[in-house]
Amino acid sequence: MSDAARQAQAIGNTVLGEYGTTVFTVMSALAVEHQSINLGQGFPDEDGPADIRRAAAEATLEGPNQYPPMMGIPALRQAVAAHNRRFYGLDVDWQTEVMVTSGATEALASCLLGLINPGDEVVLIEPLYDCYHPLVRRAGGVPVMVRIEPPEWTLPRDALAEAFSDRTKLILLNSPHNPAGKVFDADDLAFIADLVKRHDAYALCDEVYEHLVFDGRPHIPLMTLPGMRERCLRIGSAGKTFSMTGWKVGYVTGAPALIAAAAKAHQFLTFTTPPNLQAATAYGLGLEDAYFRDFTADMAAKRDLLAQGLKEVGFEVMDTQGTYFLTVDFRPLGFNGSDVEFCRHITVDAGVTAVPVSAFYRNAAVDHFARFCFCKRPAVLSGAVDRLKAHFGGP
Ligand code: PMP
Ligand code: GLN
Repeated sequence: MSDAARQAQAIGNTVLGEYGTTVFTVMSALAVEHQSINLGQGFPDEDGPADIRRAAAEATLEGPNQYPPMMGIPALRQAVAAHNRRFYGLDVDWQTEVMVTSGATEALASCLLGLINPGDEVVLIEPLYDCYHPLVRRAGGVPVMVRIEPPEWTLPRDALAEAFSDRTKLILLNSPHNPAGKVFDADDLAFIADLVKRHDAYALCDEVYEHLVFDGRPHIPLMTLPGMRERCLRIGSAGKTFSMTGWKVGYVTGAPALIAAAAKAHQFLTFTTPPNLQAATAYGLGLEDAYFRDFTADMAAKRDLLAQGLKEVGFEVMDTQGTYFLTVDFRPLGFNGSDVEFCRHITVDAGVTAVPVSAFYRNAAVDHFARFCFCKRPAVLSGAVDRLKAHFGGP
């Protein structure tokens, strides 16, 4: 540990002090150091549609570039409401039921800080995206963990039912799920909805990969289930939907009281989000259906390309129903170390970077899986596969 890190631990917040630097930063730095092909941190290697970027450029030149309204510019809130209607049949009042945030991450933080009181229990499903656990705890919440595990990632219903109590404030549900690539189906969602209703709780739904659901499967927002309209906050991200992860434009949809509670935190966290990016995101959400169809199809083809290549290398490759990610079991290659060691090994010695799946668990136990990101140009994916084949001596 560096001197600064040691001092930070002494003077910093004790909850956050328990967490190291995020795995994405660690692995991307290692990838740069070793000039490897970075299939670790999830970001596309091609920016999204030129006309959306042009809309952002024009909005920057034309202005205004001053503080937009706290809840987001009307055009974007209207576009989010229309998007909800177009894809999910949800009837959303743009003035009271939509809030624009600086990325899905700020949406998560605002919702958690805005809803949780000290001692409230929050049901989390691990593996989980890295900010969930610290944000819940920093908000004073008590995480109650339920695990899904490869290869099937089946939701353990008994354990989930046991995780709910009369102290449960909410469940944080990520579907499509990072890193599992799992899309929760109608049965799982009905089971979850029933628990939420029975315990008079809420659901915070991280649906940033809503347009990356493959093989004709539907993405079903929990919010569309009977009785859930008033109990869900649903989060989307322009970064994911338009392949511009640096943009950090998020949007939350929910019943007026829930949005108002989240806004109490949002007003003190970021207050607002750059107006040019909001205007361009509004334009993007209005693109014709073909954009969304092609986006999904293109990413499914990349998934197939990488999955096939990794199978040829000798990995056991888990099914991926959605997201940017696929998970592999590396034991068939004869590597006997942990997943952290494996990901470091392939970065340094094979020139390809992945992320250890144990980084997404609080209590690991699962330590022989790696997550590869496939939102890259086909030549880059093939190049990574070639390097892995050369290193592991595959065909
Ligand atoms: N949730 C999940 C599950 C994610 O994978 C990501 C990816 N970065 C985010 C939230 C954060 O999205 P944003 O970049 O819009 O903050
Ligand atoms: N969501 C991205 C991933 O899972 C990374 C986001 C980040 O770097 N904070 O890889």
